[in-house]
Amino acid sequence: MGDEVLFYAGKKFVAKATILGLFRNRPLATAVWGVDEAHKTWEHIMALGDVAEFEMPAENVLRALRVPVPLRSLTLVRAEERRRFLGMDDRVVRSRPEGNSSRPEQAPTLNREELFRSLSTLKTHTREQRPSRHKPVTLLWAIGRLAARQDRMVEWETFRREVAPLLQDFGLPDSKVTPEYPFWHLRTSGLWCVEGIDQPSTPTRSQLAASRARAGLTMDAARLLRRSLARAEAIGLLCSKYLGDVDRDELLERVGLAGYTRASGEQPTSGPSGGMAPRRPVTSSPPARDQRFVEQIKVMYGHECQVCGSRVETRYSHYSEAAHIRGLGRPHEGPDELANLLCLCPNHHVEFDRLAIYIDEDWSVRRNSTGAVEYQLKLHADHAIEQEHLRYHRGLCGRI
Ligand SMILES: [Zn+2]
Repeated sequence: MGDEVLFYAGKKFVAKATILGLFRNRPLATAVWGVDEAHKTWEHIMALGDVAEFEMPAENVLRALRVPVPLRSLTLVRAEERRRFLGMDDRVVRSRPEGNSSRPEQAPTLNREELFRSLSTLKTHTREQRPSRHKPVTLLWAIGRLAARQDRMVEWETFRREVAPLLQDFGLPDSKVTPEYPFWHLRTSGLWCVEGIDQPSTPTRSQLAASRARAGLTMDAARLLRRSLARAEAIGLLCSKYLGDVDRDELLERVGLAGYTRASGEQPTSGPSGGMAPRRPVTSSPPARDQRFVEQIKVMYGHECQVCGSRVETRYSHYSEAAHIRGLGRPHEGPDELANLLCLCPNHHVEFDRLAIYIDEDWSVRRNSTGAVEYQLKLHADHAIEQEHLRYHRGLCGRI
């Protein structure tokens, strides 16, 4: 248990995972894989976790490990050998083992800047000068799958079943529901791939079904979007650029990204607001925050709001709120520390939490709808705010 397993296909390593446990269960194996001609099955089963997809040429590594190439069966490698030849974190997965031949390593084909350039320049059909929402809604759905650790590639029938209702509910009011369009045409974004069908024109639904075509984010796009900062930024960008007048709380909840509409990550509670359908009740309680930090930040600023400087007076004292820049718990997983806290008045707390204002690198406080500077953030000499948390918040705001 805890050992790592690498998956090999087409002379490459294509994924890694951690072994959570080994067990034998013939009925389960038969149900999953069936039996061969001799009525045998693969009854030794591994339970895997932390599955991560990537691509890395395997030949040099296998030769260094003195393993015959190509790999044909389960091969065990001692941990020290693995560490020597196969560093597996993000930085070294792309680098070559030392002392090997000069075959160039396959470089990632997409970097962060290209990802966001592609996301901000999606080609969308326009209808009465309003861009179609099919592609951004589909991308949010795909990002939701990544966040839920579901498979990256999805067969057409599943795609249609899951995406068509989203296009129905969140597409332009009078646009036709055509899931085959984003399924096929998102390829032009450079972030999307389609497998199992290849033809010059848009395939029909029956062609997609007959070929059992699959589509999803490219491996490179998925690799970038599995990181929390890039994911927050992508969601913020897609929402603010293409989905301005969509009910984001509703849409993001439907694609499994509830919490991304607020810095705190708290989910909107159901209520009589605007006559909308009641939302799923919140079943988990917010993560515990350390009251010492809450008190510390309020005392440090004497209850004065770091944005506007005002101080709410109560009968015997003053009132302020401690706001986490990057919410604790799901989905933002921010740390509970002073560097991630602000002392705010109730109004600015709501505006910061609901992404109406954000704080720039130079500490200016800007209105998100216009970008206009409204205040300079007040900073106590003992309060070292972590810029990365503010960057994450700007990402949620669609400001990259
Ligand atoms: Zn204020």
